Amino acid sequence: MKKIVIVGAGITGCTLANLLSDNNEVILIEKNNHIGGNCYDYTGDAGIVIHKYGPHIFHTNYDDVWRYLNKFTKFNGYVHKVKAVYNGELFDWPITLDTINKFYGQNLDEGQAKLLINLDLANRSDEDNFENIVISRVGNQLYEAFIKSYTTKQWGRDPKILSSNFAPRIEIRYDNDKRFFKDKHQGIPITGYTQMMQNMIDKENIKIVLGVTLEDDIDNDCADLTIITSPIDEFYNYSLGNLEYLSQDFYLQNKFEDDFEENIGAYNYAESKFDFIRITCMNRFGDYAKNKPYVYLKEHPLSKTPLIVSYPVQDKKNIELYNRYKELKTKDHLFAGRLATFQYINMDAAVKRAMDMAKEIKEKLC
Ligand SMILES: Cc1cc2nc3c(=O)[nH]c(=O)nc-3n(C[C@H](O)[C@H](O)[C@H](O)COP(=O)(O)OP(=O)(O)OC[C@H]3O[C@@H](n4cnc5c(N)ncnc54)[C@H](O)[C@@H]3O)c2cc1C
Repeated sequence: MKKIVIVGAGITGCTLANLLSDNNEVILIEKNNHIGGNCYDYTGDAGIVIHKYGPHIFHTNYDDVWRYLNKFTKFNGYVHKVKAVYNGELFDWPITLDTINKFYGQNLDEGQAKLLINLDLANRSDEDNFENIVISRVGNQLYEAFIKSYTTKQWGRDPKILSSNFAPRIEIRYDNDKRFFKDKHQGIPITGYTQMMQNMIDKENIKIVLGVTLEDDIDNDCADLTIITSPIDEFYNYSLGNLEYLSQDFYLQNKFEDDFEENIGAYNYAESKFDFIRITCMNRFGDYAKNKPYVYLKEHPLSKTPLIVSYPVQDKKNIELYNRYKELKTKDHLFAGRLATFQYINMDAAVKRAMDMAKEIKEKLC
């Protein structure tokens, strides 16, 4: 039996611990006093589950990830729908045919809408930056209304100087599919993400140690392998400098009236007059939808004192720094998950990568 230390009990660490603990002893070290990482949730007032570090909706096209997670939880089939607020009116988000027609005051079909957007692409420069890539998809006017100020608020940077790496998530649809995510499998764990992960690590060979880091005096000597899912720059004592992340502040608001349209999970606030970017109605996420008060999670960008880091700033400077950290790696350590690989990854990708890594490790260790 080999001894494996895993640093960080988010969804990456818990998946690795679960998959590697059949024939190995696993010690899972977590600096917080709870497991779950960025996906941590808890039950708040009126039995409503709160996503402490931001709303998390599970969605995937990976059948193997879906099958694997369904061993530890049932998902409720929730399908997320979002509206963008502009000029006091509500528009489908991502942009759909209805968004285009409402915005331009038209009644176009798919082909006509494509022509209209194409006409709005004129006078665009060819520079490879966020602004140009997004305008080339949605046109100038929709970009100005829904994306420019939102992005500036979220990243604290002019979208012209943001890398096009930030653009893949911006979509335009020429049909009226109102689902925020189009993946085959979608939902939220019925008893929460934290409970799902607890079920993953409730195994004889896994020892979980909360409230500690690798430096603390714990029984981690002589490990055959150490897997790091915590920030790579922190692991190397910031010896080459700090990697930059953006983070938000999250505020809970209780209200007895539901301000949201039926079946809408979140409203995006693009305009610069709002100092927040998004409000999510947590009641929508479970079968406590009608419980009162309604609980809204409001996101303010650019936190200076974040509870947790959110989005890696994948600009040239930070990617170069991350690559230099990668060169320090030795064969005793493996790096996995969003913090150690300095990438935005969805939960399904985190689980998929952890499954692949566990398979490779098993082949090598056994
Ligand atoms: C605002 C926001 C919303 C999101 N919404 C979605 C969504 O709707 N759907 C989706 O699929 N994905 C979403 N994601 C992505 C999702 O959060 C990640 O895929 C997921 O958290 C990755 O898990 P992880 O285990 O790699 O990292 P983490 O969850 O960050 O886990 C890392 C763990 O390491 C611990 N740690 C850090 N340093 C140390 C240390 N020195 N010692 C010990 N432990 C340490 C941390 O406390 C944490 O528990 C969202 C992300 C953000 C930022």
